[in-house]
Amino acid sequence: MTKLVKLDIDSTLTKELELKEFNTPDFIYVPFPPKKEDLKKEVHIKKESAFYQNVYSPVSGKLTGVDSCLLANGKKVNCMVIQNDFQEKSEQTKPIRKKLNHLTKNEFLESIYDSRLKKRLNVDTVSTFLISGIDDEPYIENESFLQQENTKCIVDTLDALLTLYPESKAYIALKNTDSKTILAYQNILGMYKNMEIKLVDDLYLIGKEPFLKRTLKVQDALFLKASEVYELYINLKKNRPVVEKYITINGSGVSKPYIIKTKFGVNVASIFNKYYIEDLSNCSFYVNGMMGGIQLDLNHLIVTKELDGILVMKKENRVPKSCIKCGKCISICPIHSNPMLAYKLGRKVPCIHCGLCTYICPSYIPLEKYLSGEENE
Ligand code: SF4
Ligand code: SF4
Repeated sequence: MTKLVKLDIDSTLTKELELKEFNTPDFIYVPFPPKKEDLKKEVHIKKESAFYQNVYSPVSGKLTGVDSCLLANGKKVNCMVIQNDFQEKSEQTKPIRKKLNHLTKNEFLESIYDSRLKKRLNVDTVSTFLISGIDDEPYIENESFLQQENTKCIVDTLDALLTLYPESKAYIALKNTDSKTILAYQNILGMYKNMEIKLVDDLYLIGKEPFLKRTLKVQDALFLKASEVYELYINLKKNRPVVEKYITINGSGVSKPYIIKTKFGVNVASIFNKYYIEDLSNCSFYVNGMMGGIQLDLNHLIVTKELDGILVMKKENRVPKSCIKCGKCISICPIHSNPMLAYKLGRKVPCIHCGLCTYICPSYIPLEKYLSGEENE
């Protein structure tokens, strides 16, 4: 069995994060659907109206054209450009629900906007809900922050879930180092007998489903991230889709780290223009962190559900050296893959892109580039 590892953390990058809101962008960029015929041909867009499955407008405004944008995985996509009219005109007609724990199963499922989330929850029985409140990527703290800001909403939603699935219980998994989030739950959870905090060691990847289930020995649990429980809260309580999210901006290149509450489709460069006046020309931008993320140029990068944060790091002169055949990259791999096969022979190998092999390599070889097929030796 692979042992998960503790990463060396730079304590200068663990400063208190300050919340900022960026909710009034001039333009929003919405990726086209895979099939163009699925697109609704509207020129004037209402806030929270559906463009197509799982995609809702975060603002009201008018369609002005098409632009090429970048997603967090580095892929370029064509996007519809909506000019914000700042009127926040919404399609919303359903009232806010007072109570969540009186819903029938059908009402519950029909209230969920994201079809993938709905599918995962459309099961007959659940014995354990396993909620991961863990940010795996160092220096990104969205899950912690979201839970501290919305603890009661998350607990109320879990209470509703547990009512729908009789005899079930919920484990909320937190790192034993995350004292603020632990305290936020401890202040509330005393009243809920079937919810329990499970503390785990601060090891990289422990918040991911297979590793967390294995650690807590709950293989048959239904796994949700805390942010997904909060998404359910917005769907159930406010009767609307989620069109906003938190992203973390942190790193040695920025004077102050922030958690930014913003809308889907916002151009990330416009957030930087607003909050950072410093010169960032000598920095590298790691989208979704240095371990599992990728280095990208921020121009045209847009906020989507998959974007968790940007790590801005001063450029270091780490010149890759020759492989010394130490084998560390193989022994650290949590899924028992062999990154050397990709690096030396150009072979495709199983990979969850966790970045551990690059992190451990004493020769500074950027192994993840070979794993994603970006370079060959
Ligand atoms: S990046 Fe891929 S090959 Fe490297 S350690 Fe992670 S899973 Fe293994
Ligand atoms: S960790 Fe780096 S130096 Fe060691 S075997 Fe792997 S690629 Fe070579």
